[in-house]
Amino acid sequence: MSERFTGSFTQQEPVPEDAIEAAVAVLRHGRLHRYNLAPGETGEVAALEQEFAAFTGARHCLAVASGGYALACALRALQVEPGEAVLTNAFTLAPVPGAIASLGARPVFVETTEALTIDLDHLERRIEQTDARVLMLSHMRGHICDMGRLMEICDAAGVAVIEDCAHTMGAAWDGVPSGRHGVIGCYSTQTYKHLNSGEGGLIVSDDAGLMARAVLLSGSYMLYDRHRAAPPAQAFAGLVAEVPNVSGRMDNLRAAILRPQLARLPAQVVRWNRLYRAMEAGLADTPGVGLIARPAAEAFVGSSFQFLLPGWPASRIEGVLERCAARGVELKWFGAARPRGFTSRYAHWAWAAPEPLPRTDLVLAGLIDMRLPLTFSEADCSLIARIIREEIIAG
Ligand SMILES: *Cc1c(COP(=O)(O)O)cnc(C)c1O
Repeated sequence: MSERFTGSFTQQEPVPEDAIEAAVAVLRHGRLHRYNLAPGETGEVAALEQEFAAFTGARHCLAVASGGYALACALRALQVEPGEAVLTNAFTLAPVPGAIASLGARPVFVETTEALTIDLDHLERRIEQTDARVLMLSHMRGHICDMGRLMEICDAAGVAVIEDCAHTMGAAWDGVPSGRHGVIGCYSTQTYKHLNSGEGGLIVSDDAGLMARAVLLSGSYMLYDRHRAAPPAQAFAGLVAEVPNVSGRMDNLRAAILRPQLARLPAQVVRWNRLYRAMEAGLADTPGVGLIARPAAEAFVGSSFQFLLPGWPASRIEGVLERCAARGVELKWFGAARPRGFTSRYAHWAWAAPEPLPRTDLVLAGLIDMRLPLTFSEADCSLIARIIREEIIAG
């Protein structure tokens, strides 16, 4: 009898008990709104912002309603205008170009390398072609490009970099935390990311002017002095009448369950990376499989795993996916004709009027993806890898 996997790729760990207690305390006192504080109270949202600023080494932090809100807020803070071209990775998740489209701006996609990162030569050409002044850089599935070269290119061209760190919270490049290379870093605390509040997002930056705008955008009702990780009052002077309220700061309930999780994140990263390395070891030297090399400068968080089936015809990939699924291993494929679940690719986003990108098409045609939730053990990952390996060799 062949082995079967019986775990769930979408089952996260439960929210830790101390986070549940903190949530219950907020529910008992009833002060859920971000500015609803007792005299002398800091509030869970302001405390989370302080702690996340410290975690990333950023001067300022704002907690918001979602990762997508964080990205759109960053674009608004940079005063991106309707019709303006904003560069972004072709390999990313739909909310990234969606944030650009939400301002009436125009996503312009940049090619993808075999390392699943942005193609820096193509980025240079795109900057010349479009005169774009903003790059929304998505560290999709936790793969980080050569940030030294990327920042050189963008700094030389006067392009502001917003980092989408939905999959790199807790990661670093050359010792600098992901989200701290560009002018603004955005994170998600949606259930499938590295912290879980259902929905949620965080924004970090050292730039006082941009962060004052972000705070006002998030709906500060002139109460920005209740923030603990916002710029000083003088940064707000002159902006109050200029910046619209687009309400979206986080609430105290979600912040309460995130704070204990943030304290555990470094330990969770170690666990994720053990799962990742078990998958990698299990698939090493499988004929026809391309593993993604991880550069030495990259300290990643292995919360998901990708591999390539380069040059494989679609029918053969479909066969492997079907046989793996029959044995309990549900793989996602970025080359599928139709978008499914969380897995769509740039060509499916007709609303963004994407131009064809041959290098990205070639990579995505063979790209297989899976989540590695912390409810998996290393033995589970070895079993999953054995099943994939057998089915690849079989067909
Ligand atoms: C999840 C995700 C986002 C947006 O996060 P939400 O909190 O779901 O809005 C942005 N970028 C990437 C790559 C993501 O996976």
